[in-house]
Amino acid sequence: MARPIFSADFDNMPKPDLISLFRPEVLALSAYHVADANNLIKLDAMENPYGWPEKIQDIWLEHLKNCPMNRYPDPEAKALAEVLRHSNGIPEQAGLLLGNGSDEIIQILQMALPPDAVVLAPEPGFVMYKQIALSLGLRYHGIPLLADGFDLDAQALLAAIETLKPALIFLAYPNNPTGNLFDTQVIEDMLAMAPGLVVVDEAYAPFADASFMTRLQDYPNLLVMRTVSKLGLAGLRLGFLAGDSAILDQLNKVRLPYNINCLTQETARFALEHQEFLLEQTRTICLQRSEVLAALHGISDIEAYPSSANFILFRTLKKPADEVFASLKARGILIKNLSPQGGLLSNCLRVTIGKPEENQAFIDALHGALTESL
Ligand SMILES: *Cc1c(COP(=O)(O)O)cnc(C)c1O
Repeated sequence: MARPIFSADFDNMPKPDLISLFRPEVLALSAYHVADANNLIKLDAMENPYGWPEKIQDIWLEHLKNCPMNRYPDPEAKALAEVLRHSNGIPEQAGLLLGNGSDEIIQILQMALPPDAVVLAPEPGFVMYKQIALSLGLRYHGIPLLADGFDLDAQALLAAIETLKPALIFLAYPNNPTGNLFDTQVIEDMLAMAPGLVVVDEAYAPFADASFMTRLQDYPNLLVMRTVSKLGLAGLRLGFLAGDSAILDQLNKVRLPYNINCLTQETARFALEHQEFLLEQTRTICLQRSEVLAALHGISDIEAYPSSANFILFRTLKKPADEVFASLKARGILIKNLSPQGGLLSNCLRVTIGKPEENQAFIDALHGALTESL
């Protein structure tokens, strides 16, 4: 094969410092790290542990033939949007914006803000709010949750709203990684006081019996964000945002036209039209959540916190969480170590609810890890 013309001189070319071309805030970031779960029981990422019944899978594969792979997908994903409205009880007059995961919606929201905008979120919270704000050079402020029970610090939040005038506030409801639902009254006070948008992130709606979806009419600045990931479709990458259509019209200008690919549109629509099997899986996960919490409460060297999501946060009281995490991994169980984040999360670990036998394997391994001598 002929060598490209420029290759002879390539090694001798002066190399400008290409890395310094990037914005300092990008250089200062670390990439989002995902642990390798090879050969481990995977209880680290809030995934639904169940696959699809074979019968449903067969019908689904037939449906996929409807995807014309040579064509661009419907840029508005109209058929899917209709099904999402239905299955999620989105009020008729509300607008709807779809994203490639709710992660993309978090990015779209922030990309549309002016460069000096303030973004506010309670901490500990979902890390992508901050990661994306920092990558865009926005002024991010994290307001600590109350140490006792991880609820919102109303005083600190309302004071921050008054002085910082955030363009955007993120509240995960239930919160990740703590699992609790925040005090509704405080959220309502924030909605009433905030000069900007308030995104209530309901990623864990399938496991919680509370929602702000029905409150969209009451607050013009409220946006409710959800995803199909935790329901059981994490591989699809589909999230959505409901709220005032005049606001969503602006965000829609920032969205890339074909962000929801054809396979995702067709599959999500199919899955939600057959969602009974997914709802049954989430019911099983909720029952298992009670079992795992009861088992964790029976272990004296840890403190486990109640959860309205498909995971449980717990704190090690005697051994450092780093050690317990490593010992669990050596025993074949991968959970999430939050201790490196420090603050309210020091010595905290988060376990995702899996299948009954996976949960039992986790509890057994945890007993082993806590009693193991060094
Ligand atoms: C998992 C999660 C998301 C991201 O969901 P995707 O739709 O998979 O991008 C958003 N918010 C919270 C609070 C989450 O835990």
